[in-house]
Amino acid sequence: MTEAVERLTKKSEDSSKWYLQLVRMAKLADYGPVRGTFAIRPYGFAIWERIQQDLDARFKATGHQNAYFPLLIPESYLMKEAEHVEGFAPECAWVTVGGDDELEERLAIRPTSESIICDFYRKWIHSYRDLPVLINQWCNVLRWEMVTRPFLRTAEFLWQEGHTVHATAEEAREEALRMLNVYRDCFYEVLAIPVLTGMKSPSERFAGAVETFTCEGLMGDGRALQAATSHDLGQNFARAFDITFLDENQERVHPYQTSWGFSTRTIGALILVHGDDRGLRLPPKLAPTQVVIVPIWRGKSKGEVRREAEALHRELVEAGLRVEADLDEEHSPGWKFNEHELRGVPVRVELGPKDIEKGQAVFVRRDTGEKEFVERRVAARRLIELMDEIQSNMLRQAEAFRDENTRRAETYEEFREIIEEKRGFVVAPWDGTEETEQKIKEETKATIRLLPFEREEGKDLISGRPGKTAIFARAY
Ligand code: AMP
Repeated sequence: MTEAVERLTKKSEDSSKWYLQLVRMAKLADYGPVRGTFAIRPYGFAIWERIQQDLDARFKATGHQNAYFPLLIPESYLMKEAEHVEGFAPECAWVTVGGDDELEERLAIRPTSESIICDFYRKWIHSYRDLPVLINQWCNVLRWEMVTRPFLRTAEFLWQEGHTVHATAEEAREEALRMLNVYRDCFYEVLAIPVLTGMKSPSERFAGAVETFTCEGLMGDGRALQAATSHDLGQNFARAFDITFLDENQERVHPYQTSWGFSTRTIGALILVHGDDRGLRLPPKLAPTQVVIVPIWRGKSKGEVRREAEALHRELVEAGLRVEADLDEEHSPGWKFNEHELRGVPVRVELGPKDIEKGQAVFVRRDTGEKEFVERRVAARRLIELMDEIQSNMLRQAEAFRDENTRRAETYEEFREIIEEKRGFVVAPWDGTEETEQKIKEETKATIRLLPFEREEGKDLISGRPGKTAIFARAY
């Protein structure tokens, strides 16, 4: 049988082309008619649903509840917090007409919901007994991005945004850090992405925040990606939106707030961190299909092999695995191997007449390519073990890659050389001025990805002034 197979560009040859091709070939997403809009196809959405379920459970375990707020934000609301409007107005899409009528006030399609939510909080919060407010919303947002790429940077994207209100500055900071750690745990334990966590430099802070905490991942091509952020908003929004409460001393004061967001960008991170020349590699916890059974049949063995494959399928489903038996008769086993590798299925089980005779099955791991002959009667047990092994091996592989690609620079020369030739994270002291941060950005295209929580003293590579550790990289 001859089959027309589109060849996937090698990741090492052209990672940008590889990425776009893989998104299409693995049926993760497809372009919409409006620039920057995409359909997330069922295979991509199944991954998002699993991430969502995991995060949602973590939010609830830390005391949060879900709610839903309006999509449309009156312009006057967005204007209330000066920095916020400056940051977001250029990215807003506006509704100006309703039916046949020109609207009296333009309405922004939410690019983020602080302003509209604050207006509700003003009405809902009166006393210290109303605090803390711990609310999360799952929704879509729209930002008029100039350069877009499926999942990584889209105009419309899906995310969750947490919005909390607290009586004290300490509680708000604690909350922002707690949610940063919730994100970090999800990245490590579920996405198998070893993100670094820390603070943003003032120039990279969320518009209106007093501190932005970030999870930064290192992608397979050596570029960094801001994977999720958590903001300590201080009293900035409470002041601008006139949110007050009576504290225990019956004094009217402003509360402290946080907000934190995690978007469908993380699916892009998953592709870029784990994908290889053959396609996706999905961590078992997120893979819509964890195991695919591919029967190898010829002529008269077909009936028996099919029956065995179906029996194994039933058994594995009962054992709680997400399994697919690829019984399609159109395509050859080789074609199927490629297809399921492209889709990133963690384990392929091959079953042929010889295997049935010997009471065995052949397992092929997607993370390492290793083959293993397993006794048929322990297949389910072994596969359950393998899911854990693959999940932790993928994290180890990504950690090793991150560590190999994290380098210290002692001079600016060295800094530039690493950024140009090797990419990855570069650790170097920074004097804390926007001037050196800008100069580095202009000359090397590298930005400060984060300031670690523990920072060593040193001399800024450009100014020679005293500085503290910052982590730089070229980023998506
Ligand atoms: P922000 O509210 O701007 O801090 O955004 C929260 C998170 O959403 C960021 O950390 C990004 O990971 C993600 N994000 C921001 N802009 C986009 C975009 N255009 N497309 C997809 N994800 C985004």
